Amino acid sequence: MIGILGGTFNPIHYGHLRCAIEVKGLFGLEQVRLIPNAYPPHKESPEVPALLRAQMIDLAIKNHPGLVCDRREIDRYLQSPSKQSFMVDTLASLREDFPEQPLLLFIGNDAFNQLPNWHCWQRLFDYAHIVVMARPGWKAQAFDDLKARVAENAGDLEQAQAGKLFFQAVTLLDISATAIRESFAKQQDPSFLLPDVVIEYIHHHQLYQSPE
Ligand code: ATP
Repeated sequence: MIGILGGTFNPIHYGHLRCAIEVKGLFGLEQVRLIPNAYPPHKESPEVPALLRAQMIDLAIKNHPGLVCDRREIDRYLQSPSKQSFMVDTLASLREDFPEQPLLLFIGNDAFNQLPNWHCWQRLFDYAHIVVMARPGWKAQAFDDLKARVAENAGDLEQAQAGKLFFQAVTLLDISATAIRESFAKQQDPSFLLPDVVIEYIHHHQLYQSPE
């Protein structure tokens, strides 16, 4: 089984990393692919270019085989810059790469509550299971038309390649990239919210220096 964690990763932090490593173990995943978006549909385009955000991911996961930085949304954007980074397109291309394996798309429950706003969101289930990770301060909504998809046990996800919805508690870390960017802008010390190697990269490239 392959795990997928998409996001802006602006910058990557321990909230992302702890979730990725934890679900990898919980679901016995071969790998978790962290996929930075190039042109996010639901957020303002980040000032920090996707390639730099991807480099920060590379640094953060360097010593963790099984976590992979997947640049397909960036590559797609470089080929056709007018195209937004829609997850449904990303999953379709992952399905081509991994035709036999269940794909598990992990999203925080803040993102899950926005799911009906995602482009062609019902089609996500054609390609992957969706696993909602509990995130501090957010309560997952139960969408009526998804009730039939809810899996009771994690083991059910191995029985099909796609189509199920599962709710998974993870260690709650109240860390957000927004708060980290603010912390840099205010010249505060963000240590222990994200890896030191990423902090050094941010200082070196003088990222997040001014308030948004
Ligand atoms: P921002 O503050 O800029 O909105 P973010 O910290 O939410 O960013 P994203 O890159 O947008 O980070 O998140 C990617 C995915 O990781 C989303 O599904 C999000 O819900 C999830 N996620 C982010 N932070 C956490 C966290 N602390 N715990 C659990 N899930 C998280």
